[in-house]
This record gives sequence, C-alpha cells and structure tokens, in this order.
Amino acid sequence: MATELQALLALQEDDVIIRGLEERLALLEPRIRELDGRRTRILDAIARSTAAAEVEEKKQAHLRDRIAEHKLLIEKNKAAMDVVQNIKMATAAAAQMEQAMKIVATEDSDLLAINRRLEDVRGSLANQQGELAALETEQEAARADVAAQQGVIDAEMNEAMAKRTIAAKEVAASLLDKYDRIRKRKMADAVFAMRGMSCGNCDTAIPMQRRHVMTSTEAIDLCEACGVLMYFTPAERV
Ligand SMILES: [Zn+2]
Repeated sequence: MATELQALLALQEDDVIIRGLEERLALLEPRIRELDGRRTRILDAIARSTAAAEVEEKKQAHLRDRIAEHKLLIEKNKAAMDVVQNIKMATAAAAQMEQAMKIVATEDSDLLAINRRLEDVRGSLANQQGELAALETEQEAARADVAAQQGVIDAEMNEAMAKRTIAAKEVAASLLDKYDRIRKRKMADAVFAMRGMSCGNCDTAIPMQRRHVMTSTEAIDLCEACGVLMYFTPAERV
C-alpha cells in the first residue's frame, strides 16, 4: 500500500508526462497554422471569385431576359406596322420600335461588359483552383508528417491519461482536489520536496513547528508563500 505522499508523487509524475505530451502537441501547432493559413488564403480567394461570378451570372440572366422581352416588343411593333391603317398609328409603332431598339442596343453593350467581367472572374477562379490543387499536392507530405506525429502523441496521451486516472484514484479526494487546483493555477508542478528548512519551490523558510509536524507525521503541507504542496524527502526526515 502506497503512502499518501507516494500516491501523490506518482500522480505528479504522470502529470509531468502529460504536460510533456501537451508541449509536443503545441510545438506542432505553428506548422499546422502555417499549412492551414496558406490554404485558407486560397480558399478565401476562391469564395470571393465564386461570389463575384454568381453576381455577374445573375445580372447576365436578368439582362438576357430583358433583351428577349424588348426584342419581342420590337417584333410586335414591326408586325403592327405591317397592318397599320393610318399614319398616326404607323408613326407611333415606329417610335416605339426605335425606342425599344435603342434600349436593346444599350442592353447589348451592358451584356458584353458583363460577359467580359464574367470571363475574367472565371479565369481567376480557374487559376485559384489550380493554385489550390498545387498547394494540396505540395503540402501532402508535410500534412502526412504532422498527422503521423499527432497520431503518435495522441496514442501516448491516451495511455498517459488512463494511467493518470488510475493514479488519481489512489489519492484522497480532498488532497487530489487541492493538488489539481494548484496545478491548474500554476500550469506546472504542484508538489515539491522541501529544500532543507525551506519550500522547495520558493525557498521561503518554514517555521520549525510546522516542519516538525511534517517530519513526524509525513504530512503534506501547503506553502503559505507560493501555494504549492510540500513534503519532506525521507533523507531529510530523520
Ligand atoms: Zn513556497
């Protein structure tokens, strides 16, 4: 049966391993960010081009409809002119036809401009998609490498976490709670061996009375200066 201190130190050892794994994972992050960053920039450009193309396509469809309507109007007026009974009606039909033709001419030139813009934006889109494909090929090896490293660390992490869960069960609930809170606050070790008469972490001298209790009862005590848990190593517990 392990003593309370042994159980706590075993738990801390597991946490040191977990922290090491977390640091290894964190080291991969800049690489992932770099890889993702380049890809995201291209994806953003593709999204912008796609949206621009959609806008032009809508304008194009709308304009084509209107041109068709106006051409129909021209046809109607042309037909009306064939059957007009007087000059007045003929003049009116001719005027309407002329106006419709002017409108269609403007619309045709607008449509040409839209078609040109659409061609440009589709050209950019094709380039950007090419860039994306090239980048994905270029990043393939790097991404596989990162994923493999992540996989190794994840496996080790799962193992370490399982071990930690077992180790944590060996520590009394109230002490575990204290330990976890200190560890989270400090993001580092929570349990320190005393260094002579002082806290092993902050070197603040511990009053003799408390030291005496710790040596005689193997008690784990809290450093009032820095808040870590302290214990006497057996060598000092003579
Ligand atoms: Zn301290």
